[in-house]
Formats: sequence, structure tokens, C-alpha cells
Amino acid sequence: MNTNTEEKRKAVALLSGGLDSRLAVKMMLAQGIGLKAVNFVTVFCTCTAKSSCRSEARQASEEYGIPLKVLNATKEILEAVRNARHGYGRGLNPCLDCRISMFRRAAAYMRDVEADFLVTGEVWGERPMSQRPEAMRIIEKESGLEGLVVRPLSAHLFEPTIPEREGWIDRNRMMAIEGRSRKPQMQLAAELGVNDYPCPAGGCLLCDPVFAARLKLLLEEEPEPPVADIQALKLGRLFLSSSGRKIIIPRNEEETRKIESLARSGDFLMAVEGITGPTTVIKGLPAEDRATIDEAAALTARFGKVRSQERVSVSWWPAAAPAAKKQSLTVAPKRGWELAESLPRY
Ligand code: SF4
Repeated sequence: MNTNTEEKRKAVALLSGGLDSRLAVKMMLAQGIGLKAVNFVTVFCTCTAKSSCRSEARQASEEYGIPLKVLNATKEILEAVRNARHGYGRGLNPCLDCRISMFRRAAAYMRDVEADFLVTGEVWGERPMSQRPEAMRIIEKESGLEGLVVRPLSAHLFEPTIPEREGWIDRNRMMAIEGRSRKPQMQLAAELGVNDYPCPAGGCLLCDPVFAARLKLLLEEEPEPPVADIQALKLGRLFLSSSGRKIIIPRNEEETRKIESLARSGDFLMAVEGITGPTTVIKGLPAEDRATIDEAAALTARFGKVRSQERVSVSWWPAAAPAAKKQSLTVAPKRGWELAESLPRY
């Protein structure tokens, strides 16, 4: 119970828009806490434009009448990937370091808006890496928030926080949920009238071993890659040419559009002439690397609609100067088939 009736205590809530964070927000609002919400997005979110955690967070913040600040944490998470002091999960996900950096930003926002503490929907033991009790303690300590992180869903499993000890919030009105079963949360949602929550489908590409291998490849070449190059790793089939250049071949029209828009100076685009098919991108191609051009052309023909033809014409041009005169060569799709079997594929 908020015993200080003179002053309404304020907190910043980490709001992903998923069930756990919605419940945590509802529980704090029920205790009379003045909330502001923060939502983090990064280039590694698996959200789509139609269904993103940003839009779920926005919808939840509107429903609960609390202001929302969306922070892009791509820079911090990339730094954590390059420098994972606490190690990685099964992919290239440095969850502890990532959470520490996000909590630090949330702490800075908390100070900016003169809030008293932080609220999260974290559940004791729900996530293998970042929600182990020991990990949660490390995150809290290294982000300078010791005693100031309230986790209403699992509060009873932690030592009382400063807001509880000071009587700003009532420990008895919080829970002791632990583990990966979501049944207790669903039951609580029914009790609190939280009806409209998304499935826990959101995720982070760093946990995906295929994407992780692609990113590792990129970071070895370029420790601080542009976001467009990271976005391109989400698309298509990725081959390494015999000289180590990345050749990305889209799988459908939508990927073709995206690949074209993400290509940048130094990249080359390539397509089979006279048909509607994939536009391949060759990343950072030096002009003298003719072997990569030949390999990319054969692969482009192999994955176009011309694979049964003996020979086809393929054009290529610099991405930064689409109006530049296109160059062209003829290739055998069959060679592309052999290459697809032999070149390293990510
Ligand atoms: S899953 Fe991704 S976003 Fe979530 S804590 Fe781990 S690295 Fe960060």
C-alpha cells in the first residue's frame, strides 16, 4: 500500500506489451503508482511491421493511460554482442550484457523523469539466461539499480526492495510466480481484467543459430556495420564466393524489393535478363573480383526460372548507380547448381 498519501510515488515500467509486462503495470497502477513506460526496440527484434512489440507496447500504454517512450537500443546491443562479458546463449545473444545496457538506459530515463524506481514483468526462472535469479542480481547491480527494481510477478522470491521497505508499495499485493509455465499469469490476467494480450511470439534474432552465424561473419569483416547490412542478413540465401564475398539471393518478390532497397555503395546487383526473377546482391565487391561475378551469375540463374536452359544472360550493375551501363555475361544454370552444393552457405 502506498502509505505516503502526500506524494504519489513514480516509477518507470519496462513495457514490451506482452502479458508479463502488462500484468506488472496493472499491479503497480492498482497500488497508486504514477507510471511512465519504456519500450526498447533493436534491429534484432523479430517483429514485423504488422505485429511489433512497439505497437503492442503502444496499445497497452494507451489502454492503461500511461505515457510511452520508445528507445532504439541497437547501438547498445551491438556493443554487447561484440563484448559479451557474461557470455552468450545458444546463438550470439549476450542476454546479460544486453539487459545491463537496457537497464542502464532505463535508469537514466528514470532519473530524467524523476521517478523513484523501475518496474519489470520479469519472472523468476522464466528465461534460461537473463531471468535466472543470479543473473537478475548481476543485471541489477551492474546497472546501478540495486534495490530499485520491482518485479511484481515474483516479488516474494526476492529480498524486499527499497520501495517495499520504504512503504511506497505493498509487498503483500505482489506475487511469487516462478518458472516457465504461464498458467499463473493467465489466471492473474483473468483476475485483473487483462484480456487483450498478444501471444508470446516476439523474439530476438540473436538467439537464432543461422542468423547468429551470418552476423558473426559480418562482424569479423566489419565490427561496426551499418544497420542496412544487418537487415540484409535477415533475407534470402547467403553464399560465400570462393574469394569470401557475400552473395545474397532473395527467395521471393518481397525479399527482392527489400534487398534492392538495402543495397549500398560498394554493393553490386544482378539479375537474369528478360525474366522477372530474383535480384541478387553481392556485398562490397571489388571491381577486379571477376570470379565472384561468375559464381554469383551462375547462382542467380540457378535460382531464377531459367534453370532448365542451357545458357542464360545475366546483367550486373553497381547498386549506387543503377543508371550506370549494365554489364552482362552468359552462364550455365547447371554450374550454379553445382556451386550451390559446394560454396559455403549460411
Ligand atoms: S534475447 Fe536478445 S534482446 Fe533479449 S536479452 Fe537476449 S540479447 Fe537482449
